[in-house]
Amino acid sequence: LHGLDRAHLVHPVVSWSSHEQRGATILESGSGAYLRDSEGRQYLDGFSGLWCVNIGYGHDSVAEAATRQMRQLPYATGYFHYASEPSIRFAEAIAQRTPGDLDHVYFTLGGSDAVDSAVRFIRYYHNVTGAPQRKHFIALERGYHGSSSTGSGLTALPLFHDHFDGPSAFQHHIPSYYPYRNPVGPSEEAIIAESVRALRATVERLGAENVAAFFCEPIQGSGGIIVPPRGWLKAMHQVCREYGILLVVDEVITGFGRTGPLFALEDEGVVPDLMTMAKGLTSGYAPLGAVVLSERIYRGIADNAPAGKPVGHGFTYSGHPVSCAVGLEVLRLYEEGGLLANGQRVGAYFQQRLGELEEHPLVGESRGRGLLGAVELVTDKARKTKFDSSLRLPDRLLTLGRERGLIFRAFADDILGFAPPLCCSCEDIDLLIERLSSTLDAALD
Ligand code: PMP
Repeated sequence: LHGLDRAHLVHPVVSWSSHEQRGATILESGSGAYLRDSEGRQYLDGFSGLWCVNIGYGHDSVAEAATRQMRQLPYATGYFHYASEPSIRFAEAIAQRTPGDLDHVYFTLGGSDAVDSAVRFIRYYHNVTGAPQRKHFIALERGYHGSSSTGSGLTALPLFHDHFDGPSAFQHHIPSYYPYRNPVGPSEEAIIAESVRALRATVERLGAENVAAFFCEPIQGSGGIIVPPRGWLKAMHQVCREYGILLVVDEVITGFGRTGPLFALEDEGVVPDLMTMAKGLTSGYAPLGAVVLSERIYRGIADNAPAGKPVGHGFTYSGHPVSCAVGLEVLRLYEEGGLLANGQRVGAYFQQRLGELEEHPLVGESRGRGLLGAVELVTDKARKTKFDSSLRLPDRLLTLGRERGLIFRAFADDILGFAPPLCCSCEDIDLLIERLSSTLDAALD
C-alpha cells in the first residue's frame, strides 16, 4: 500500500518530495478517540481527524443511519425543485439551534464551498437590493476560510498564497487580534480598540458603500488557535452595523461542541448575518457543510430578485440525503447521547491540564477553549523568542509525537494544536498530556 500511495495519491499540503520519500501513515480503523494504522500501531487522535470527528470513531448508529438512507434513497438533487426528508429535517434542526433569525440553510459538501456560497449569496443579496457596488470582502490575517479559489482568497496564511495568485482585488485583510503577540500589548481593551481601528480604516479606505462583508472565525483555528478577548466579536459586529456591512461568522471548526456550546457564537451574544459550518456537522462520517442565512438576507433576496429568474449557484450534492441522515444522527449523539455535555466537562479539564504545560521550558503560552487548544513554543519565554524555522521543529515534533502514539497538528513554525474528540474521558486527556510532555522533553534532547 505504501508504494501505491506514493505512486498515485496526491497529498498537496505536505512537501511533495518528502511524501515521495516517506509516504503517509495509513490509517485502518478507529474506535472512540483511538486510531490504528496499517502496521498495528495505536494512536490517541488528539486532532479528531482534521478537527472534524467530534463524536469520535466507531459509532454504529451513524453507520446504520447512512446505510438505511442509502438503501431507501441515496440521492435527491437539491439543485432544482426537489428535496428529501433528511435534508429538510436537518435544515430545520440547524435553524432551531442557530442563534436569532439564522433560519435558512443551504447545504454544501464542506467548509470551503460553504464560504464560497456565502460570498455568492452576499453578492446576490447586494445586487438585488440595490447595492451592486458592494464587492469588497474583509477578513483577518491568520484567518482560514478554505482552499477553494474564493475561500483561499479570504484565507490569510502565506502557505495558501505562495505559488498561487494571492487574494483577489476584492479581498482584504486586517491584522489578527493575537493576544500573545499583539504589538499593542496584552490589554484586552487595547487589542479590541486596535482591531476596531483597523477595520474602520480599511472600510474607509475602500469606501463603506463598496464593502460587502466582514468574515471571521470565533476563534482562529488554522492560524494557530488564537482566542480573541471577550467582547472582540461584539465590537467588530458594531463596526459592521455602523457601515451597513454584513458579518459572516465561520464556525467550521468551532461549531458542534468544539469549544463547549453547540456553537462558539453562543458565548459572544452576537447574531451574524450569515454563518458557515462543516466538520462537526457530520463529524466527518460523511461530507457536508452549510451556510445559514438570516431572515433579513433570505427575505432580501426572495423579495427583490426578479421573479421567475433563477440564479446560477448550486452543487450536485447539495443536501445529500445520506450526509443529512448522518448529520441528524450525529446531532442526536451530541444532544441525547450526552457528547456535548461530556465535551464541556472534559474540555474544562483539558484546558486546566494544558495550562500546566506552561511550566515546560519550551512552552511560551498554552491557550484555547473547551476541546480546542494550543501550545506556542519559544526558545526564550521572557522574550517570546521564536524558533528558527530552518530547524523544522514542527516536523520533528509531529514525528516524535507519532512515535509516542499521539496525533496532533503543527501551525507555522511554533504552534502545536489539539482538538480531541468530545467522547474523551479525563483519563484520555491525561494520556494526551503525558504523551505531549514526553514529546516536548524529547525535543529538548
Ligand atoms: N473555514 C474554516 C474556519 C476552516 O477551518 C476550514 C477547514 N479547516 C474551512 C473553512 C474549509 O473547510 P473544508 O476543508 O471542509 O473545505
